[in-house]
Amino acid sequence: MSKATILVIEDEAEIREMLRFSLERADYEVLEAETAEVALDKLQGRLPDLLLVDWMLPGISGVEFIRRLRKDELTANLPAIMLTARGEETDKLKGFDCGADDFLTKPFSPKELLARIKALLRRSGSQDSETLVAGIMTLDLGQHQLNINGEAVEIGPTEYRLLEFFLKKQNRVYSREQLLDRVWGRNVYVEERTVDVHILRLRKLLTPYGCDTWVQTVRGAGYRFTPEQVADTQA
Ligand code: CA
Repeated sequence: MSKATILVIEDEAEIREMLRFSLERADYEVLEAETAEVALDKLQGRLPDLLLVDWMLPGISGVEFIRRLRKDELTANLPAIMLTARGEETDKLKGFDCGADDFLTKPFSPKELLARIKALLRRSGSQDSETLVAGIMTLDLGQHQLNINGEAVEIGPTEYRLLEFFLKKQNRVYSREQLLDRVWGRNVYVEERTVDVHILRLRKLLTPYGCDTWVQTVRGAGYRFTPEQVADTQA
């Protein structure tokens, strides 16, 4: 089981504090950034599941921040809720489409906030509900649970993220560098052979189910995940 992570970008410490309190009580993991610049830096690591972005920020504004994210392949689809203050002409803001998925006007109740977050997470197909399937394998993203042939399989956090990525991008070749970018995050200084280590572990845990061959080495190019027919071992 793992919690959905929410990155809060808000310059007012009191509001950040309040948001953290409400979100943690609802069992979310909370990351904070007091400016968009800090947030951009944090996004070079592992991506959160959702962003709460204050519109009025010192430096890069919330609008500009979300625009930048949408231009980057890695963050283009990251769910984002924009927080605006009353009187900040939210309607106008909505009109010129900065790429936010939803808007919330301050002051709002924790209940309202949590309802919007839940709805957006569901809509964006992350955490809450989605299950990825390949042949006899299912990965429940809400429960962080891998099942093969209906059997729960123990999986480490990195192998989990690797498998999640592969299940979303089946039958396509990715270089070690691309996998590092997408699974480990940019600017995370790990060597390319780290990928090989985790690929090896992933294959090992898939071996008893005959799915290890789904994780294929493409010589000179990288790795590819291709589900194949598995002989039915259960009589
Ligand atoms: Ca502000």
